[in-house]
Amino acid sequence: MQFRDLNAQYMKIKSKIDDAVFETISEGHYIGGRQVKELEDTLAKYVGTKHCISCANGTDALQLALMAWGIGAGDAVFVPDFTFFSSAETIAVVGATPIFVDVEDDTINMCPASLERAVEAVLEEGVLNAKAICAVDIFGQPAGHEAIREIAEKYKLYVLEDGAQSFGGNINGRMVCSFGDISTTSFFPAKPLGCYGDGGAIFTDNDEWAEILNSLKVHGKGLNKYDNVRIGMNSRLDTIQAAVLLAKFDNFVRYEIADINKVARRYTELLKGYVKTPVVRDGYTSSWAQYTIQLKDIEERTRVIDALKKENIPAMVYYPKPLHKQDAFVGAKKYTELEVTEKLCDTVLSLPLHPYMNDTDIESVANTIIAAIEQN
Ligand SMILES: *Cc1c(COP(=O)(O)O)cnc(C)c1O
Repeated sequence: MQFRDLNAQYMKIKSKIDDAVFETISEGHYIGGRQVKELEDTLAKYVGTKHCISCANGTDALQLALMAWGIGAGDAVFVPDFTFFSSAETIAVVGATPIFVDVEDDTINMCPASLERAVEAVLEEGVLNAKAICAVDIFGQPAGHEAIREIAEKYKLYVLEDGAQSFGGNINGRMVCSFGDISTTSFFPAKPLGCYGDGGAIFTDNDEWAEILNSLKVHGKGLNKYDNVRIGMNSRLDTIQAAVLLAKFDNFVRYEIADINKVARRYTELLKGYVKTPVVRDGYTSSWAQYTIQLKDIEERTRVIDALKKENIPAMVYYPKPLHKQDAFVGAKKYTELEVTEKLCDTVLSLPLHPYMNDTDIESVANTIIAAIEQN
């Protein structure tokens, strides 16, 4: 069994992807080919934003957004303590200070109450300028963007939506990557919409920021690459990756999101009552980057992992360590309690999940977990 079976997806549309890749090679525009613009137009329309700016990966996408806003030394950006490293790493890369915020015990997304406490604490201290909130949509489910937006407006903060794990998710039909003032995503192979290498994209309705982002991703170009008006990066999406994404996009929209939701629902049916199953809020649709259960404690989790290993079932701990405990952030000041994150890092476990998973495999994962729990 595979954790995320990318080959099953490839085999289904092999000739379409192969053709798209070979066509790109024979056309010869390896950087900035027509497929890049075509993808940007397709994704902007799908998400419902005015602009989509593709780039090299989801980490660069976050960094470029922060750079476009001129965020740097002396600025504070609020970010969940429970997320992939990139969400906070990029804040530090531009010289700003990540302020870690706790998450909700059920959705595992940023806790609005903890966010507001952290903002108040930063303002009260009066050392850093509170500038932005990095609202991560964890594991596929959009964050509580309504509550986060209210806080952003109250304290005049930008919202940067990190939709790396949640492309294709929505809240009452409004798509992920449309909730931020600037939003970002990743096309890393294992993400909901993945390419065959690294890739990312940035979304915004703001014309001025879109222009700055398009400049920043090509060495701060002005009129062209050899006219440089600001310090930027080299962060373009390869034409081949754009072609792969275009080839995959139809199925992603047509049935992959629906099918992965079916797999998730089946897991929940089987596991309910035995473990804490993922909670998706009313009106929210997850694109299920991960199906993450919560066990009672670290001992029970270890027992479940061992039982799965014996059956050759892959399972992953996303994430084993709160960001504020990473060596890279040693000495980071705590502005709010981070207890939920600390507990989750000991209890979460992500199960094999992809749109092509069959019922036999789902049942075998669930039965192994239930047996391991009941054994005790
Ligand atoms: C994967 C991920 C990123 C980074 O994306 P890359 O394309 O790997 O650089 C950023 N934020 C979150 C929450 C992610 O899961």
